Amino acid sequence: MENAIKNYDLHENVRSFVPRTHKHFIGGEWVESASAQPFDVKDPATGRVIARCASGTKHEVDLAVAAARKAFDEGPWSKLTPSERSKAVWKIGDLIDAHNTELSQLEALDNGKPVGVAAVADVPLAGDIFRYMAGWATKVEGETIPISVPYAPGAQFHSYTLRDPIGVVAQIIPWNFPLLMASWKLAPALAAGCTMVLKPAEQTPLSVLRLAELIQEADLLPPGVLNIVTGDAAAGAPLAEHPHVDKVAFTGSGEVGRLIAKAATGNFKKVSLELGGKSPTIVFPDANLEQAIGGVASAIFFNQGQVCCAGSRLYAHQSVFDEVVEGVSKIAKNIKVGPGLAAGTELGPLVSQEQFERVTGYVEDGRNNGAHVAAGGSDNGSDGGYFVDATVLTKVNSEMKVVREEIFGPVLCATPFTDDDLDAIARDANDTNYGLAAGVWTQDLSIAHKMAKKIQAGTVWVNCHNIFDASLPFGGYKESGWGREMGHEVLKNYTELKSVCMAL
Ligand code: NAP
Ligand code: MG
Repeated sequence: MENAIKNYDLHENVRSFVPRTHKHFIGGEWVESASAQPFDVKDPATGRVIARCASGTKHEVDLAVAAARKAFDEGPWSKLTPSERSKAVWKIGDLIDAHNTELSQLEALDNGKPVGVAAVADVPLAGDIFRYMAGWATKVEGETIPISVPYAPGAQFHSYTLRDPIGVVAQIIPWNFPLLMASWKLAPALAAGCTMVLKPAEQTPLSVLRLAELIQEADLLPPGVLNIVTGDAAAGAPLAEHPHVDKVAFTGSGEVGRLIAKAATGNFKKVSLELGGKSPTIVFPDANLEQAIGGVASAIFFNQGQVCCAGSRLYAHQSVFDEVVEGVSKIAKNIKVGPGLAAGTELGPLVSQEQFERVTGYVEDGRNNGAHVAAGGSDNGSDGGYFVDATVLTKVNSEMKVVREEIFGPVLCATPFTDDDLDAIARDANDTNYGLAAGVWTQDLSIAHKMAKKIQAGTVWVNCHNIFDASLPFGGYKESGWGREMGHEVLKNYTELKSVCMAL
């Protein structure tokens, strides 16, 4: 495993951390699996094994949930003052920033993404959400509510609400932004006073294991507050159905989202889901085309297109369609493809062989059904890595799989529109089972706000795309999920509301 990373220029901590057989983090200890054999973690740029990781099963999930249950039911975490919790959560954010170099290298190595992108986006956003949520730890408040009880004339009551932490939380996350997805889940749960069991994706467990190690070294959380069980569905499924888990938060595919929702019915644990998308970007004829072309390209090619809110369906007005498609195609053809750790890489490999086959399969299906390939369209396989070209498809229609289904790769489907009626344009944009995000490109304020209202999506970006902030709620309409992450909205996911009513 050392050999597989020897040619990279890596921080010494990364070099010593990666090539190990990693363990679960349960009750403040590093724990091996009782029986299951470890699984391989691969470098997507080469397909070579860089690490091994413990395969979690029901046994390890039971241990982790028991540790989280004890830490919640007995404290001390759930009994700390909000201010004490706030300080710990804030320090985790600072710890992430202080280790930016190693954490971004881990993301590049494990996920394949360009290290420079991880260093300016994934890691700083992860640090930020801990600090943002640290502020909320002291502001989870109830209300006093005046009541008038018709069958108790003359009686007086004092009524108020309390927001309690929801309890033990299961958090199951995908591989596209490993550290950031973990942070979106951990930070609000910690701020609310919950304890948790996190299962990272089997493809990308490394950065969150390193984060747990850093938190442990800095002694920021009592044992059992944060538990990590690595592995695949053999760990995820028992976690989602565990009777001692109070809430499950999931990000990933709709297919697994459905399984999670069903599994949660055993004890009616609360569920929040952040699922996929097929987000439209709409370019109006009055848009600043230079900005729009760059924006549309980055909306789909950022993170190799492995973004749930990627702008994967382009609708551009007929009068500017050719210019937009040519511009985006030119960017696609010139984009620098390479390993995430190589200098100047703009488009890294996809995360896995499975994703590589999935994405190239979709492109093939589009081609077989009449799509025209304006850019890319082939795999860019080299050295066993999972590279695909940035791809632009035209001559597509709303019946085609490439337009209807989430490809989760750098593949844009472009369609012209001729109508000036905003309702008709919004119908195209909304012609999807998903509703996660949309991008609108126009200089006309009236069009911008009217479209923002008409689009059925949790986020509408105007003259931008993929802009995230810890304070801005994110989540989906329709099949893109249940609930919102980030902002103060997310605290609803991790608290229960209690009404207290006292006769005076
Ligand atoms: P996935 O299967 O939905 O995986 C997401 C997480 O759920 C992973 O941690 C996964 O473990 C876990 N999981 C799998 N089966 C489970 C089960 N039965 N019970 C509980 N947890 C379970 O996503 P994927 O296979 O990695 O990607 C497939 C497609 O999902 C992508 O092509 C894309 O379309 C979509 N996706 C969406 C997002 C998003 O942000 N919305 C992110 C990633 C993927 P394993 O790691 O073992 O699978
Ligand atoms: Mg899967």
